Amino acid sequence: MSMKVLVDPRAGFCGGVRRVVKMAEKVMSDTGLPLVSLGDIIHNEVEISRLERSGLSSTDHSGMAAPDGPRQVLIRAHGEPPETYAKAKELGVELIDGTCPVVTRSQNIARKHYEAGAQVVIIGKPYHPETIGIKGHCDNEAFVVYERDDVKQLDPKKKVFVLAQTTVAKEWFEERIGWIKEYANDVEVQVENTLCRFVVGRDRDLEQFAKQVDVILMVGGTKSSNTKALYGVCKRMNDRAHLIVEENDIDFSWFRDGDTIGVTGSASTPHWLLEKVRDVIGEKTGAGILRDTADWEARQQEQELAEMEKDDCDCE
Ligand code: SF4
Repeated sequence: MSMKVLVDPRAGFCGGVRRVVKMAEKVMSDTGLPLVSLGDIIHNEVEISRLERSGLSSTDHSGMAAPDGPRQVLIRAHGEPPETYAKAKELGVELIDGTCPVVTRSQNIARKHYEAGAQVVIIGKPYHPETIGIKGHCDNEAFVVYERDDVKQLDPKKKVFVLAQTTVAKEWFEERIGWIKEYANDVEVQVENTLCRFVVGRDRDLEQFAKQVDVILMVGGTKSSNTKALYGVCKRMNDRAHLIVEENDIDFSWFRDGDTIGVTGSASTPHWLLEKVRDVIGEKTGAGILRDTADWEARQQEQELAEMEKDDCDCE
């Protein structure tokens, strides 16, 4: 059969997830000891299993506080509220902070506006760990707007400052800004676009990729909402889209002679897994492997995050 297979050049970990995974691996390799994270550091079971084999496990807040709890804990990219840092200090637990610099920036911006007396509104999912973390940085006094009625919590006479959970869709964010402005139309509503630019535009790029190939495989974890959302994008653009967790889920009857097969993933799918899926297809079908530019993309993101860490917060 004459087929080709390639990995989507925009697929693979976002910069923040790549950074925290590397951090975990470095700590375990430097100390030679296992490490515990506060919550799963990534929504991908294949990558979690790989990290578990290196010694990473996870716990929750009560596990951290248990008498036989860990002495060292890794904070994941979503970040944590200040209470977590205070609790760890009280318990004598050393924290390794893997909070994504993009999220740290949102926390700092929210706190600054809260301290200046504005009503802070986070447009996002109320129970998402990142939202909980940002809210905590405003003494848990920030409001979360998810549904239309949520705007009714606001005082329509008091200045409003709005920011976004970093990973929500731009259109979804803008629709809610409209609701807030309509409700608090007598006061100043200041908006800061805190959407993560590593994920903004991902839908549009994926639409292009899904149209360019004959068959598309979305590789991602069963608990990842980003995987489900991006699979929806693939399916909309290409009838021959399939969702898999790993290479063993591939059904080779999906492929036909002459096909170009695209392999893609969400922000929590490791690049090595995408390459593995690509290589297995190449081995089993004889499909020619088209090389991609993802490594370049990854280096670029890492550099940008490192710059952001130096800047800390540019909201002054
Ligand atoms: S803010 Fe962006 S780069 Fe950071 S973890 Fe979230 S998606 Fe990844």
